[in-house]
Amino acid sequence: MRRPLIAGNWKMNTTIAEALSLVKQMLGALMAIESVDKVICPPFVSLSEIRGLVEGTSVRLGAQNMYYKDKGAFTGEISPVMLKNLCKFVILGHSERRQYFTETDAIVNEKVKAALAVGLLPIICIGETLQENEAGKTNSILERQVKEGLKDIAANRDLLLAYEPIWAIGTGKAATGVQAGKTIGFIRSTLAGLWGNETAASVRILYGGSVTGANITEFMKEPEIDGGLVGGASLKSDEFIEIVRQTAAAKS
Ligand code: PEP
Repeated sequence: MRRPLIAGNWKMNTTIAEALSLVKQMLGALMAIESVDKVICPPFVSLSEIRGLVEGTSVRLGAQNMYYKDKGAFTGEISPVMLKNLCKFVILGHSERRQYFTETDAIVNEKVKAALAVGLLPIICIGETLQENEAGKTNSILERQVKEGLKDIAANRDLLLAYEPIWAIGTGKAATGVQAGKTIGFIRSTLAGLWGNETAASVRILYGGSVTGANITEFMKEPEIDGGLVGGASLKSDEFIEIVRQTAAAKS
């Protein structure tokens, strides 16, 4: 059984004060929903203070990125060792990192290894562009991203994948549940080719891309989809709570 998980990626939004206020608005309602793992991924600068609020609750924290070295002359970077006592999860290979900060599959692979080495649970993002989708290349792109991103990593259940079609991120044009379910099924079969059926069947794979309270149930009804990585809608407390609520209902 794969436990459903909803993660909120706040991206580069909220000051520390705003972040604390947003968590306070959601915390009680999120804690009351027990059958779903809830993860909040605020900017780095808010992690420490938010940790003080969520410690001892069922709400977990994640970082949005990380460098793969433990320490050294890498100005502006944050290391796995710095994060491991602050949060449990780390988003890696988000399409915005790939697009604006030239992250390659090889870099994502280094980051995944570094996160696993310190016990952080990576949420590894993969997805195709609109052009690739229209050219019928979705599966081959995803296969490459999975194989390269997980290169030289032995079978491991302590990570998650997030299928985030780039054309659906922040556009309001989500995939359909059926589309996403089918593609996630393909991702799982790719994983099975690498790590065997048993491990592939236990790794959680999320959908991300314009998820809202209005469409989450459509995704969560798909047996292959184990949860959501939510951007814009995770910045609205009522909407995020609603997404988690509907996930609990759809997966029960
Ligand atoms: C994301 O940033 O991972 C994301 C899916 O964004 P949005 O929900 O806003 O499309």
